[in-house]
Amino acid sequence: ELLNQSIRDPLTGLHNRRYLMPRLDELLGRSTRRGERFALAMFDIDHFKQINDRWGHATGDEVLKVVASLMKAELRDDDIVGRVGGEEFAGVLRNNNREAIEAITGRLLQRIVETGREVHGVPVHLSASIGGATLSRDHGSFKDVMASADKALYRAKHNGRNRAEFVPTSAAAKL
Ligand code: GH3
Ligand code: MG
Ligand code: MG
Repeated sequence: ELLNQSIRDPLTGLHNRRYLMPRLDELLGRSTRRGERFALAMFDIDHFKQINDRWGHATGDEVLKVVASLMKAELRDDDIVGRVGGEEFAGVLRNNNREAIEAITGRLLQRIVETGREVHGVPVHLSASIGGATLSRDHGSFKDVMASADKALYRAKHNGRNRAEFVPTSAAAKL
């Protein structure tokens, strides 16, 4: 029970950063050795601060739980889902090609918008942005994969939010 608590986020029940980072490193090693594919998708709720400010922290917490449960529902059992920070989540999508990853993340963004029109009667008008990194030879450690995903996330925010962007584009051929 103590071990389980130490690797889970108490609010959403998702895995926490402490659990995710070594798992990502492990996967990266396996992908180098055996060619197993994975992609990292970083999810960041759009204008979450405004939701807290306008509707209160308790509603913000409910929103986090809704996003967490949608991620769990939409991703596969062998994918890894975690909450890495305040309103940031990570999905590790395994053994999918680039088209599948774009389809999965696109559907999830759509589900977030649909479900998040109203949360417990509050019209929060939720959306999220995704930065995705597919593996490339330039990735030496999980920190590099995260840095790529962060770069893509920045682009998704910059390009208007409620969207997914991926880097490196050159790795598309590899997946
Ligand atoms: P952007 O669209 O650019 O991502 O803007 P944003 O408002 O979502 O991003 P910003 O980083 O400015 O705000 C994140 C907010 O998340 C600030 C912080 O108070 C809130 N937050 C972090 N953790 C929690 C939590 O556990 N519960 C609630 N309710 N709010 C949280
Ligand atoms: Mg953020
Ligand atoms: Mg945000």
